[in-house]
Amino acid sequence: MIANYHTHTFRCGHAEGGEADYAREAERVGLKILGMADHTPYDFFDIGPRNRPMRMKPEELPEYADSVRDLAKEYEGRMEILLGVEAEYYPKYFPRLLEMLRENKVQYMILGQHFLENEVDAPYCGRPWSDPAVLERYVAQSTEALQTRLFSYFAHPDLINFPGNDELYEREIRKLCRAAHDTQTPLEINILGLREGRNYPDERFWRIAGEEGNVAILGCDAHRPQYVSDPATEKRARELAERNGLPLLETLTLRQIG
Ligand SMILES: [Zn+2]
Ligand SMILES: [Zn+2]
Repeated sequence: MIANYHTHTFRCGHAEGGEADYAREAERVGLKILGMADHTPYDFFDIGPRNRPMRMKPEELPEYADSVRDLAKEYEGRMEILLGVEAEYYPKYFPRLLEMLRENKVQYMILGQHFLENEVDAPYCGRPWSDPAVLERYVAQSTEALQTRLFSYFAHPDLINFPGNDELYEREIRKLCRAAHDTQTPLEINILGLREGRNYPDERFWRIAGEEGNVAILGCDAHRPQYVSDPATEKRARELAERNGLPLLETLTLRQIG
């Protein structure tokens, strides 16, 4: 692996270490590109304190941005460090999010749709939901997100945990994969999920993605500095891509947020 675009920091409240710790480890294991993509702040301006505690606060974004940029300068010529965020698409709050990211000159977003609607009182997609409506809403909302063409890739697109009817799963996921294909958005095979035996990567998903001609990319989703590299799990992720006929990107063309 020469590039990883999915790296968190302590700011989200459930990861360890700052960007300097991740950069040190990334350089040590030979990465050429390290993309920081901590969970984006979201300005839930109308509900304030109900903000779920899994992301930095809006007022913490400038410090994150400056700190990653300083580090990028420090490593110039040795390793490229990029300033990104992992963001959900919440229609009501998305315009304000874009403003905030542009103001802070954030270089890229990856899509990670952990919750539906506008997050408030909405289901976490990684819990098992046999209700077809949850699957359908996940696909519809993620499709809308992809159509903005603002996301550089789709992180763990198979986060949706649907133990229900296989035919329904296939029909919906095929739609999602086509939307990713139409918008030329790479799909991430998530190394964290694979290492921890989460519901993703979901083999059913990747079979369909392979049939639909999607392009994939590996993402470490590192929440601890040591996990910017995980050769054993990376090998399994590459095998997953291989057996499903998915071409793997080694580096990414970033999409401008502006
Ligand atoms: Zn996280
Ligand atoms: Zn993540």
